Amino acid sequence: MLETTIAGSLPKPSWLAEPGVLWAPWRLDGEALAEGKRDATLIALKLQEDAGIDIVSDGEQSRQHFVHGFLESVEGIDFGRRVRMGIRNNRYEALVPTVTGKLRRKGAVHAREAMIARLHTNRRLKFTLPGPMTIVDTVADGHYGDREAMAMAFAELLNEEARELAAVGVDVIQFDEPAFNVYLDEVVAWGVEALHRAAEGLRCTTAVHICYGYGIPANIDWKTSLGAEWRQYERIFPALAASRIDQVSLECANSHVPIELLGLLAGKDVLVGAIDVASNRAETPEEVAAVIERALRFVPAERLFPCTNCGMAPLDRTLATQKLAALAAGAALVRGRGAT
Ligand code: ZN
Repeated sequence: MLETTIAGSLPKPSWLAEPGVLWAPWRLDGEALAEGKRDATLIALKLQEDAGIDIVSDGEQSRQHFVHGFLESVEGIDFGRRVRMGIRNNRYEALVPTVTGKLRRKGAVHAREAMIARLHTNRRLKFTLPGPMTIVDTVADGHYGDREAMAMAFAELLNEEARELAAVGVDVIQFDEPAFNVYLDEVVAWGVEALHRAAEGLRCTTAVHICYGYGIPANIDWKTSLGAEWRQYERIFPALAASRIDQVSLECANSHVPIELLGLLAGKDVLVGAIDVASNRAETPEEVAAVIERALRFVPAERLFPCTNCGMAPLDRTLATQKLAALAAGAALVRGRGAT
């Protein structure tokens, strides 16, 4: 009961990439970079195990960007034609590559790093991929001319990739869809269908992560504009509850999401974000426990997985490690109280 997990990313060691920077450039190259990614993955697993996290991830130590890390291995995308574009409904600008032709994977993208992680932990392993709608929102389209059609094309590639990850022994494949909180009508119209295509035929557990973004200024400003109650989830949860995706990962720590909205996800596992990735202080176990206990009023204990709000990539490494420990300790506290 109350098994802990993380949204996905952890900060990288300073010898691998510049610390404290989102999408930081690598500090190594060639064979040294490959070795560095491998070593950093082992450390990320060890830190999670030591903290007491039950379902661990590779900490996304082998990719620079959670979307472009996948796109770099896809044919039909021109990284030479990068354009500055407003993304997430113009919340912020990003330099994105252009889709210029039919999409095809050049080969396995993440199987090797998943295999390395699999070889070095006996715990259940989660692996994250960008979701189709979020990918479509993070590239320029010079070919398809239709977001839904392009999302379905990406979903097919994601499905090929996900099947390979499952084959190397990944237990949970999570699709990251921060765009689901932005394009609410499109989620219902085709976003969930694109997810289904990406997850088709998978026998491992499937998850979708929907957050309000990393703790960067553009996101913090956006959140202050959303009012006293964040009700985005209310519009999309019924579609997710009816979906074939097993788990939904959400932001609940220090968020203005009315907690009763979790009740709309009946029948799903809910990964309850109990660690704020936008704060510079580690939560106390008591604070984590309070979030879990609030969520327990609407999610049965056997379906509740305490988690982080989002990835911790841009955080200070020591702070991230403390937050991992707080997450596990908070869950243990609730278990000890017999609330489950
Ligand atoms: Zn997130």
